[in-house]
Amino acid sequence: KQELEQPQDIIDYRKKHLSENLSLAYDEPLKIVAGRGAYLYNEKGTRYLDMVNNVCHVGHCHPGVVAAGQRQMSTLNTNTRYLHDNIVRFAEKLLSTMPKELSVCMFVNSGSEANELALRLARKYTNRKAMVVVEGAYHGNANACIDISPYKFDGPGGDGAPDWIKQTLVPDPYRGKYRGRNEETGLQYGKDVKRAIEALAQEDQPLCAFICESIQGVGGQVIHPPGYLKSAYAHVRDAGGVCIADEVQVGMGRVGTHWWAFQTQDVVPDIVTIGKPLGNGHPLAAVVTTQEIADSFVTGMEYFNTFGGNPVSCAIGCAVIDAVEQGGLMAHALQLGEYLQQGLRQLQSKFPVIGDVRGLGMFIGAEFVKDRDTLEPAVEQIDYVIERLKSEGILLTTEGPFHNVLKIKPPLAFSKQDADFFLSSLEMILTEQGAQP
Ligand code: PMP
Repeated sequence: KQELEQPQDIIDYRKKHLSENLSLAYDEPLKIVAGRGAYLYNEKGTRYLDMVNNVCHVGHCHPGVVAAGQRQMSTLNTNTRYLHDNIVRFAEKLLSTMPKELSVCMFVNSGSEANELALRLARKYTNRKAMVVVEGAYHGNANACIDISPYKFDGPGGDGAPDWIKQTLVPDPYRGKYRGRNEETGLQYGKDVKRAIEALAQEDQPLCAFICESIQGVGGQVIHPPGYLKSAYAHVRDAGGVCIADEVQVGMGRVGTHWWAFQTQDVVPDIVTIGKPLGNGHPLAAVVTTQEIADSFVTGMEYFNTFGGNPVSCAIGCAVIDAVEQGGLMAHALQLGEYLQQGLRQLQSKFPVIGDVRGLGMFIGAEFVKDRDTLEPAVEQIDYVIERLKSEGILLTTEGPFHNVLKIKPPLAFSKQDADFFLSSLEMILTEQGAQP
């Protein structure tokens, strides 16, 4: 037992008995044994500022969330075949954050399961299968999710796109085909969704659905240009398809101005999928849809989900929503997000390696380039920064097809002092030789 606690022993055991494709962060992985607020602690008590974990949304081990889970765990946990108040309370709370058209919730246990169920709903409702998906997107690990995730089917080990999939351009106003954060760019990228729908139609494949993250997460922290989803959704609906908003990574008030990132684009999806932050680390996810789509799924085939919507999960979900509301965390995400972006923009004006800074609330990206005209990705520089930040006690990752975007999405327990610590550390590191372009 004793030797198992050594990091190298854990690494060896994982390799042998836990499948080699379980990945680890950092060449020298961290052993993390505790978390509190925006901080993680290793086995020696060293503290790290966590700027990665958008799952522990309201803070690691948030006392209100922990207490709600403990209380319900010591009373009852069972499935949804008995009446219980918690599922009603949780549905009411969740629906109160949504546009009124979205009035039916289904509870599941992961983002993948939510997207899998969203596909089933869309297919039943439209009686169609063909999908338009965004280049580079990721929607989960289930078979159906891999089929709609270019990041996987076009990535290492992938089998390419299924024949009922067409990809649309990633609506990236910085590096994409159409550039500039303006309505015109939004319309152009929207038109590309129409192009993909028409390409499917030419193959006699009428559109079932368009699935799109409300901000591209794995795609590289890409904030859609204004009007993009409005234009894309109009084309999808003209073709009789449904619009699925994947809010698994970006939802739950992180964008600051709204509960859901699709609201920043002034659209109402037909289906919304929610995961990661909903349970603050507890496996809890949901699909929210319209009455009409939900009704089409009532076919006589039962939908049963052993863990989905259980009283413990629902107690935890309620506590997370309460923590966002009572802690004023949306306003905090907005203010601090703007502060972080401002700080990053100041660094951008000093260091040419930072080509672009973008974000909504506390979902921020800083793209590293070797040359601001060619946009050649500055991969070595960003890797150096990530390693050096770790040695300063700050955890961050990279994102995007070229792994050159600093991906910032800390727990909302992140403070102004934390932001200052990060910005001054980044400035110091960029000043060092290794990060110069
Ligand atoms: N959709 C998006 C946008 C995601 O980022 C993820 C997870 N990275 C998923 C779906 C899948 O969620 P899970 O890992 O909880 O199955």
